[in-house]
Amino acid sequence: MEYRRLGSTGLKVSALSYGAWVTFGRQVGRSQARELIALAYDHGVNFFDNAETYNAGEAERLMGDVIADLHLPRDAYTVSSKVYFGASEQPKPTQRGLSRKHVFDACHQALERLRVDYLDMYFCHRADPDTPVEETVLAMDTLIRQGKVLYWGTSEWSAASIEEAHRVARERNLIAPSMEQPQYNLLHRERFEREYAPLYERYGMGTTIWSPLASGLLTGKYNDGVPDDSRLGHPDYGWLREALLEDDGARLKTVRALVPIAADLGLPLARFALAWCLKNPHVSTVILGASKTAQLAENLKALDALPLLDESVMRRIDAALPPA
Ligand code: NDP
Repeated sequence: MEYRRLGSTGLKVSALSYGAWVTFGRQVGRSQARELIALAYDHGVNFFDNAETYNAGEAERLMGDVIADLHLPRDAYTVSSKVYFGASEQPKPTQRGLSRKHVFDACHQALERLRVDYLDMYFCHRADPDTPVEETVLAMDTLIRQGKVLYWGTSEWSAASIEEAHRVARERNLIAPSMEQPQYNLLHRERFEREYAPLYERYGMGTTIWSPLASGLLTGKYNDGVPDDSRLGHPDYGWLREALLEDDGARLKTVRALVPIAADLGLPLARFALAWCLKNPHVSTVILGASKTAQLAENLKALDALPLLDESVMRRIDAALPPA
């Protein structure tokens, strides 16, 4: 495993980490979750990603139980939660968003579900147009000073909103966000590479990137249809299937164009796509998703493929992707 600094912080996160969205509490039960976390940890993964909203709190509960069950030393791993969407199907007005009240309540509930005394990372899962940024920055600052959170960050905020949070923090002497959690993969690179470009140098923002395989598209498993036992075949994820596949075949066309490049390097497409994410030095950690241990075992090999992605391969990849 390689360990990277989370931006300009002193925290060293494993370049590959593991997240619970969709899988924990829906596709994966307790014994399989135990196998997956143990496999990741044994391979040097030290960051486990979660959120209040993942399966309405069940993903955090399951992860907390399994980590306790495995007796992972608290000082050897990091765990996150995210606040914004709420932890139930129909949250009441005070049970979602980034108000001081919900940021506090959600933090305490995540600590309980994850069975920890503090969250290593706490993300604002989206920007909240109904809450002044000052209120959220102050709430995060307070939680950090209370020892309940170590680092706070944003997820899919605009660069302008992140700049605003830094301005407020500077002017009021509060703790600023340390990291962003954006989507980044071969099919989705604009925001990470362009919009956020000034943030890395200016504020030392780290990144914990999500959906590195675009929910599995970048494994090639959807090239010939939607398998029944896959995420996009799941009845609860019709909205995601529509979002990713109802584009006149544009994404799958790109995936197919990448297949021969990976094949020439002797790499399975998934490993190749993950290595491409790892190649970007602004990526602090690539959050893997996996519903099966065989998938996770395969994906954990991605760092070995990194040296194969030299300049000429990167140029070939750029040429295969649609123009920005
Ligand atoms: P991926 O894009 O890597 O998709 C993971 C899914 O792809 C798996 O669950 C599995 O789905 C399939 N898959 C993975 N590896 C393989 C393989 N080798 N062969 C075949 N199929 C494979 O990541 P996620 O979308 O899960 O995102 C990773 C994490 O990022 C999440 O768990 C979450 O922690 C975080 N996240 C954060 C978001 C945010 O807004 N901040 C949003 C989304 C995710 P299946 O077997 O079901 O087909």
